[in-house]
Amino acid sequence: LSDVIVIDDSEEYADVEKELIFLGPLAFEKKCLKRILRAAKAYSRPPSEKEAGFILLGSIRQIDGTPVFIVEDQVQLCGMVTPLQVSFDLSDIKKIIEEAEKDHLTIVGVLHTHPRGDAEPSLHDKISWLILQSEIGRAVPLLIYSLNNDKIGMLYIEWQLIDQLIQRLKTRKMSIERIFQKHDLR
Ligand SMILES: [Zn+2]
Repeated sequence: LSDVIVIDDSEEYADVEKELIFLGPLAFEKKCLKRILRAAKAYSRPPSEKEAGFILLGSIRQIDGTPVFIVEDQVQLCGMVTPLQVSFDLSDIKKIIEEAEKDHLTIVGVLHTHPRGDAEPSLHDKISWLILQSEIGRAVPLLIYSLNNDKIGMLYIEWQLIDQLIQRLKTRKMSIERIFQKHDLR
């Protein structure tokens, strides 16, 4: 799997004409990025700081054969809080995608906050993100916002690699009866 790309201010650039802000494979509408960061910052700030999750909605454009995820809107997720982390319900995400499709929008990313930690996804974050992508059958970027160092961490790998991984995880089933017969264990 590819490395995490942590993006700081020096790596981002704004397309002023289109009002799009490019962050790796994502292109945020200016207003949309401001709206998401406003909410992410507010939920991360003490007292009562908490993890908040968002589904990024928009459209996917192929530019020179590579997908560009245009972020046009967002929906906040209700999470289940455990002492260690917040997890988001996959069926909620699917329902949000269904609702968004009525407005010709699709999922173009997932973002959540790390109020105290770094902008680095945990192993749990990475695994849930892989499950989400295998369920929807395509790749979407994962973003983490950290108030600690005011950074956005991003993780993105091509669908081909995710699909290869899923294929490699196919089980080989062996009959116990046949193993017993072959080795005369009965
Ligand atoms: Zn996390």
